Amino acid sequence: MSESRDFCPRCGDPVPERPEPLPGMPRERDDVLCDSCYFEDFDLVDAPDEVQVRVCAQCGAIHRGNRWVDVGARDYTDIAIEEVSNSLGVHLNAEEVRWGVEPEQVDQNNIRMHCHFSGVVRGTPLEESVVVPVSIARETCQRCGRIAGGYFASLVQVRADDRTPTTEEAETAIEIAESYIAEREDKGDRNAFITEVNRTPDGPNIKISTNQMGSGVAKQIRERFGGTIEEHPTLVTEDGDGNEVYRVTFVARLPRYTAGDVIDPEDGDGPVLVRSNRGRLKGTRLTSGDPYESEFEEGERPEAEDLGSVEDAEETTVVTVEDEHAVQVLDPETYEAKTIPRPDYFDPDAAMVPVLKSRSGLHILPEEVVEGEGEE
Ligand SMILES: [Zn+2]
Ligand SMILES: [Zn+2]
Repeated sequence: MSESRDFCPRCGDPVPERPEPLPGMPRERDDVLCDSCYFEDFDLVDAPDEVQVRVCAQCGAIHRGNRWVDVGARDYTDIAIEEVSNSLGVHLNAEEVRWGVEPEQVDQNNIRMHCHFSGVVRGTPLEESVVVPVSIARETCQRCGRIAGGYFASLVQVRADDRTPTTEEAETAIEIAESYIAEREDKGDRNAFITEVNRTPDGPNIKISTNQMGSGVAKQIRERFGGTIEEHPTLVTEDGDGNEVYRVTFVARLPRYTAGDVIDPEDGDGPVLVRSNRGRLKGTRLTSGDPYESEFEEGERPEAEDLGSVEDAEETTVVTVEDEHAVQVLDPETYEAKTIPRPDYFDPDAAMVPVLKSRSGLHILPEEVVEGEGEE
């Protein structure tokens, strides 16, 4: 066997030979000490003198590191246990570590946390108990402070081209904004919030926490309804470093014509029932039943005359089917028999048909007139 013996570098006592460290792992200085020198200044547990937990009294978020994080609505004692547990360290050389913490409520804002540890170091069982005082500080997080102060960085205005958004359009746009922001919040983005929704006679005004999210909301509204987005930045202030801070107003302008409107594109082929206005304007020609698609790109509007909508339709009696291109019906106002164009969606066996009387004359509407919501 080997002649060599090891000695404790602190007291000089001989120590039993220690296994070589694994290749690549340096031998810790303390590893060569004898047991009594080693345990002389050994701490099984590394605990802070005290822990302060900063909680937001409004939303229950806690301040961790240098930011606020949502922990959900929970008991402050549970939060204190978690914060203390996260702050405790056990010596790396300890094996078979067991530990537990026990809260002792002192008053509403103070908890004494009794922490018990046991472990085995160098084959020696050790136990250690520490008491960590925890104080709970009730504050207002930045987010709740901003919401309370009416802070917003962007304003989304829902408007429409040459008309006012309908109540349904306005409510849908608000829902789009709310679910967009809720999704960000669910992903833990504490900068996502809506400060205020104001339903004005011209359409909703929605105050949103950041410009980026205001832009995102406006784009989703455009995706749903078609139309355009205008951006108007306004310089509101300079921040502490002299940088200019802009607030951006996004006007989501819904298209002039929507599904169910009847328009005359004035191209000589007669009126069109609008079926969709997301992307290009699409519809059905009332004279022939042929599909119509505007040659204009998204956001542009063809010159067209507004003739009404499917809501103005009336049922009237079919007098006689004249030929492939013509049918005779009663004018719903004058009860005179009139010969009008026969579109291919006209059912020759029908006794009654829906018609629209407009400046362009009398036209038969399709029985099922408007596309379902939400699909193209
Ligand atoms: Zn020693
Ligand atoms: Zn808060």
